[in-house]
Amino acid sequence: MSNGKMDRELFSAARRRSILVVEDEEINRELLAFCLQDEYEILCAASGTEAREMITARGEALSLVLLDLNLPEGHGLEILRWMREEGRLQTLPVIVMTSDRDAEVESLTVGAIDFIPKPYPIPEVIRARIRRVIELTESRDLIRETELDPLTGLYTPVFFFRYAEQLDALTPGEMDALVLDVNHFRMVNERFGKAYADEVLRRLGQAVRAWTKQRGGIACRRGADIFMIYVPHGGEYASLPEEMTRAADGEHPDRIRLRLGVYAAVDKNLDPDLRFDHAKDAADAIRGSLADTVSLYDDALHEKQVFEERLLDEFHTAIEEKQFQVYFQPKFDIRPETPVICGAEALVRWKHPELGMISPGVFIPLFEGNGLVRELDNYVWRTAAEKLAAWKKAGGFTVPVSVNVSRIDMLDPDLADILRDLVEKNGLLYSDIHLEITESAYTEDGPRIIDVVNSLRGDGFIIEMDDFGSGYSSLNMITTLPIDVLKLDMVFIRTAFSGKGDTRMLKVIIDISDSLEVPMIAEGVETEDQVRALRELGCEIVQGYYFARPMPAEEFETFMQEHSPA
Ligand code: C2E
Ligand code: MG
Ligand code: MG
Repeated sequence: MSNGKMDRELFSAARRRSILVVEDEEINRELLAFCLQDEYEILCAASGTEAREMITARGEALSLVLLDLNLPEGHGLEILRWMREEGRLQTLPVIVMTSDRDAEVESLTVGAIDFIPKPYPIPEVIRARIRRVIELTESRDLIRETELDPLTGLYTPVFFFRYAEQLDALTPGEMDALVLDVNHFRMVNERFGKAYADEVLRRLGQAVRAWTKQRGGIACRRGADIFMIYVPHGGEYASLPEEMTRAADGEHPDRIRLRLGVYAAVDKNLDPDLRFDHAKDAADAIRGSLADTVSLYDDALHEKQVFEERLLDEFHTAIEEKQFQVYFQPKFDIRPETPVICGAEALVRWKHPELGMISPGVFIPLFEGNGLVRELDNYVWRTAAEKLAAWKKAGGFTVPVSVNVSRIDMLDPDLADILRDLVEKNGLLYSDIHLEITESAYTEDGPRIIDVVNSLRGDGFIIEMDDFGSGYSSLNMITTLPIDVLKLDMVFIRTAFSGKGDTRMLKVIIDISDSLEVPMIAEGVETEDQVRALRELGCEIVQGYYFARPMPAEEFETFMQEHSPA
């Protein structure tokens, strides 16, 4: 079936149209209603005033006005002129009904689209005229506002959503909403140029169109690199991303990666764009994954969204009610025979009144997505600094405290001032506060981050590179980065000590820290064997459950005293 033909069929089947009959003689109204009511919904007005009221109220929902010229309270021609001046009514077609030949010509000049003579012709003729006028007007409107996407030949979103609704009406069975997204399309643009990227999109568009058509569905492009597909339910999608990747660039299949989100058997009560939001959410859930290319919107994903929305909604209450708590986990210097406590990391927890303890691994990424993390981190830093100041004031033994600084915080122009303020206000030394900045911050926002870090280091803050080994910094880059400590990503400990155990990779990394002349902290150390092995490899500092889990401030104060080296 050609696209055009399918479109028309979709179109006419979709809804029952309304016609307004403006006619003062009851017998004529009844006659027209009788001949049209099988096909259309008929509304009637008996005077000029009534006609204006109904047109004003129902304008957009009407498909046609049948207008008698001789009316009480306002002549038909006046109504026509009024409609042509009212912006939104200009496109509503009007057929004039009259026995006056001269008036016919005049109505056409004023803007009537056709006329029906009185006395009325046979019903078939009336119906045929009306059908033709409605079809013409609708195709005209459609073409005017909806052209196809020039690059891919697919529908534009407005057009697509309209047809999706009509496809629903035509398809008794269930439908699937799919979203196909190009991973890192911006990078494709940057690395291979706009001409190449456009060509990729064009080919993808063609392939998507052919694939969709075969399945009796429709597709469109939204934004630069997102394809929305609406097809009857029941298809097999596992190989679709790969198939499309080949179509996009068969010669360099490694340049393009696609991910597909599927919202299967959509709830037709949902707005069409929401259905595709669900499919997009599914696609985004595997954004960072190398292994997965297809993801389903299911109950679990839905629940996760609801849960995340709840956390976002309750964030400010949680801050006000001090539901966020700062825990401390000690770091030990393992070079001496008996390890010595040498620092602590401040780690936030959310003690939710109903949901219980929530781990930062759950809410930090969420708050990073919308900037709330800045507010939260400010709170954590302030709390950590105040605790440390209080412990120092109490005169006991204390260690420096490191706080996590999110990539998002690093982009805050006030960051340095906030941190300086913290040190000054609490009467601390700059070296009392260590800043943990993850390796991925350096690789993602490069030069800007480096400037900020340099300035913080200039003040005297100690900079620890967190999760080292999880980002993608090259060795070359590492040697030029401003850092004082490397914190090894926990994954290295896991792999080195799981199964047979292979510490060669650990050794390489510890050698790197040696050559950079910065100490190495190993995180996630849980056993004595691990401590021993790390010591032999030359690792200096260890943080992990083996020594202690993160604990509330009061407990940590005692812990410090008990482990005081003196
Ligand atoms: P991270 O900064 O790398 O923190 C280390 C994580 O390892 C902590 O998880 C800690 O509890 C955990 N850990 C320590 N020793 C062991 C061990 O022996 N075994 C195991 N399995 N885990 C261990 P936590 O507290 O859940 O924090 C997770 C991540 O959340 C942190 O990773 C950090 O990236 C982020 N985070 C925590 N607090 C904050 C904060 O206040 N601000 C920001 N921006 N991020 C935070
Ligand atoms: Mg950390
Ligand atoms: Mg870490």
